[in-house]
Amino acid sequence: MAKYDYDLFVIGAGSGGVRAARLAALSGAKVMVAEEHRVGGTCVIRGCVPKKLMVYASEFSHSFETARGFGWTIDNPRFDWPRFLAEKDKEIARLSGIYVRNLENAGAELVHGKARLIDAHTVEVEGHDRVTAGKILIATGGRPWMPKALKGVEHAISSNEAFHLTELPKRIVIAGGGYIAVEFACIFNGLGVETHLVHRGPNILRGFDDDIRTHVTEEMGRRGVRVILSTQHDAIEKTATGLVSRFTGGHHCESDVVMFALGREPCTDDLGLDAAGVKLDEKGAVVVDEFSRSSVKNIWAVGDVTNRINLTPVAIREGHAFADTEFNDKPTSFDHEMVASAVFSQPPVGTVGLSEADARHKYGKIDIYMTRLRPMKTAFAGEDERCLMKLVVDAESQKVVGCHVVGPDSAEMIQMAAIALKMGVTKQQWDSTCAVHPTLAEELVTLREKYLPPGLGQAA
Ligand code: NDP
Repeated sequence: MAKYDYDLFVIGAGSGGVRAARLAALSGAKVMVAEEHRVGGTCVIRGCVPKKLMVYASEFSHSFETARGFGWTIDNPRFDWPRFLAEKDKEIARLSGIYVRNLENAGAELVHGKARLIDAHTVEVEGHDRVTAGKILIATGGRPWMPKALKGVEHAISSNEAFHLTELPKRIVIAGGGYIAVEFACIFNGLGVETHLVHRGPNILRGFDDDIRTHVTEEMGRRGVRVILSTQHDAIEKTATGLVSRFTGGHHCESDVVMFALGREPCTDDLGLDAAGVKLDEKGAVVVDEFSRSSVKNIWAVGDVTNRINLTPVAIREGHAFADTEFNDKPTSFDHEMVASAVFSQPPVGTVGLSEADARHKYGKIDIYMTRLRPMKTAFAGEDERCLMKLVVDAESQKVVGCHVVGPDSAEMIQMAAIALKMGVTKQQWDSTCAVHPTLAEELVTLREKYLPPGLGQAA
């Protein structure tokens, strides 16, 4: 008789949980997965996927403008928000269904309801009998953090609600300067909504390379997003005509929707983690080692709930590494170095490796290669849009330690650049790569002159 009902119990059927559950089940383990919402997690249901569909929808307005420069006549294009939402929801339902089928095909059992640990081996799912499991994986993800003490916060939405607004607002105020705030500001702006982005700091996208941050702000402004820096909400008031955002410093702004994107918090409350003795950090994230094992030896955690790098592919790799280690006799830890990411702003950002400031801090002497250029397509159409490309090189080893791009297709470009950087490419090897012409990406492999800040001139 088996000691436990299940070999593995996974709490949360998002990207990380599903990957781990599937692989464990395929190895022959008896696996149960609990999900309190829809299968697919943040990425599929209320994150990356619906967001990217909204990015696609919103990019057309700019494409129509560019098309005019190429001789097209486009009369009175209109956007049907309810129709888009219905199509988007159909696609999300389709993808969620694929996740469910993948779990079933692998032989994992899915149970719907909120799961809670009773002790380190016992789980209770609301409305179901308690079960025991030899190993438990916490993959409950994160959720938007809202400033609960702010006056009038009940009038504001988070990204969760932004996917389901019954009407497209005419005016929106988005607070925050991270991925979500920037992406949604560009989405709503592209859909014709008067958009204010309000951020407490002197520049958006903290942690990114400073040239990238400034460049994105300028380009967003060029496309119509009103970026207001160094201020934040003091209160939100509901009036007869909309919502008034009151900011520190006395300014105010009226809109139809106020959205907060001020970061996300790990979903660890009410999970019974204390009962099991699982250690959390000061932000409520599960503390794990490089094999994603928590402070309790039979409990692991992957994805946003551990607040390491909060990206879908990272959660998937952490879940995969866990399953390989624990169920396939292949000890694997995911390497969190050189993980590329993209901000789907308009224009988008692709980035991998260190910013100039971080590289200077780490290596002391670094070489910078940077160019700003007008992409052929938009320049032909008479637009002033600029693309920025930047390489950060460790002066001593000549390894390329950072690559940053703002411009069309930068998210696609950076995936390829990440391979080279992960392999430890040197600038000389990078330069030996022949260009693909005519492309924007060719500029990246033809950066020959070291960049010096204005006033110092260009070095040989
Ligand atoms: P981020 O942590 O990226 O940004 C949070 C922003 O809110 C920062 O600009 C921060 O300012 C600001 N902020 C935090 N607290 C306050 C406060 N009390 N008052 C005012 N401003 C505040 O969070 P997001 O919500 O944008 O995204 C969460 C995570 O989701 C990201 O880190 C990313 O890992 C992931 N994500 C990835 C995407 C992608 O890959 N394209 C897309 C969307 C999300 P400051 O900089 O001053 O701290």
